[in-house]
Amino acid sequence: MERMEIIGTVSIFTCQEKQSIIGQITKMILRKEKMMATQKYTQFPCQGCGNRCFLEIQYDTNAIQSVKGNRCDGGKRYAAQQLLRDKISVCLPTIDGRQARVVSTEPIPLQYHTACLEQLAQLVLETPVCKGETIWEDWKTGICVVADENLF
Ligand code: SF4
Repeated sequence: MERMEIIGTVSIFTCQEKQSIIGQITKMILRKEKMMATQKYTQFPCQGCGNRCFLEIQYDTNAIQSVKGNRCDGGKRYAAQQLLRDKISVCLPTIDGRQARVVSTEPIPLQYHTACLEQLAQLVLETPVCKGETIWEDWKTGICVVADENLF
């Protein structure tokens, strides 16, 4: 009986409206599933000042979703600094057929990684390569990539 009432309620919609509702719900579920799959959780003490607040953070690859335990906005900034940045380290070909490892001097925000790697992928290094030598620099973002090894 209960089942029939539910069917009766849905039947007030036209077939097109039903399809639209089902489509919207499916999209919402898929969006949520995607969010859940990429969302991560971690905890660590903030080093922003002597209070050492214990932070509980939810984040994905692009942004900090939520921070608990912080007593000021410095905790959010610290979390972003720790979690949304990473150094780039990659091997590039040299003109004599070898490879040299290069590394960014600082951790880079994750959203710049693809663009940075695309630029690096176009390079072929001349030898000799000296450790610490600047390989590529982007003055707009301040990203600097240097050789991580000697290759003579
Ligand atoms: S969250 Fe704020 S108050 Fe707490 S340790 Fe970090 S900077 Fe200090």
